[in-house]
Amino acid sequence: MARARADIANTAVRIFLQEMGKLHDEERKLPPYRKSDFATVREFFGNRCCYCDTAFDSTTAAHQDHLIPINRTDLGLDAWGNVVPACRGCNNKKQGADWRDFIIRRAGEHAAERHARVTAFLAKYKYHPDLHRIRAVAEALSDESAALGMTLIDAKIRRLREPKA
Ligand SMILES: [Zn+2]
Repeated sequence: MARARADIANTAVRIFLQEMGKLHDEERKLPPYRKSDFATVREFFGNRCCYCDTAFDSTTAAHQDHLIPINRTDLGLDAWGNVVPACRGCNNKKQGADWRDFIIRRAGEHAAERHARVTAFLAKYKYHPDLHRIRAVAEALSDESAALGMTLIDAKIRRLREPKA
């Protein structure tokens, strides 16, 4: 049951962070980030993977990666400034790694230049969510949604066990 509780909590936090992303876009007077805006993001990075600099073409697809992962620990948002282009290899290997560390791993001697490009991207979109506030709400939501979800599931099962009238 611990696994089920964690699944409910993680899903609730993820949805919350997606919604907070829309709010952060609104705060910055930007239209809500949509998947179709990815072309603009790709263009900023010269149509290359922001980590290893691989060029995207007909054989190498660009994946939308969240620079700061959308989870309870990292609290990344689905918003302008936090969606970056990554090749499949980088997207798969990054997992929960910090983007700065990951750039060092993937870019080697070009790490400083690549770091500067991502920093310029964050600055362009003024990505500065209020993490202190978001963390407090995400933690409460995580606990409450797990408790509520499990209570509902238990109640439904109990009803099913009742003899039919
Ligand atoms: Zn890459």
